[in-house]
Order: sequence, then C-alpha cells, then structure tokens
Amino acid sequence: MKCPNKSMNMEGCNCTYTGCDKAGLCCECVRYHRKKGQIPACFFPAEAEKTFNRSIDYFVELHQPARHS
Ligand code: SF4
Repeated sequence: MKCPNKSMNMEGCNCTYTGCDKAGLCCECVRYHRKKGQIPACFFPAEAEKTFNRSIDYFVELHQPARHS
C-alpha cells in the first residue's frame, strides 16, 4: 500500500518491532491491532513498548494511579 504520509508517520512511530510491513501505515497498524483487541505501539511509553505487550489491559495498567501500601 502506498501512503503519502508514510515518512511523516515514521517520524512519530516509536515501534521497535522490526520487519513489520505496517510501520508508517497508521491505518493498517490500527486495523491490525484493533482486530486483535490491542493498541498500537505509539500509545505506549518507550520502555513499555519494548515489551511488545500491546494489550488493552496492559495499557490500562500503565495508566493506573500509583498505589501506596
Ligand atoms: S505497532 Fe504493530 S502494526 Fe504497528 S508498526 Fe508496530 S508491530 Fe507493526
């Protein structure tokens, strides 16, 4: 798929999963992860992104307020 925004999209892409044919093609990326019940890499901070855990549960977990016991 040819996308006129691909190089601009790549500037904002933090995904470290190499070899993905959807890198820079945000509509394909969102469609792929949404179908799997997931969220694309760019919604995760760098350290979390590196785990390749794209689950909604993980995203929610990361956004919980810090708990003090
Ligand atoms: S977030 Fe997923 S679909 Fe998007 S570029 Fe990374 S590995 Fe590919």
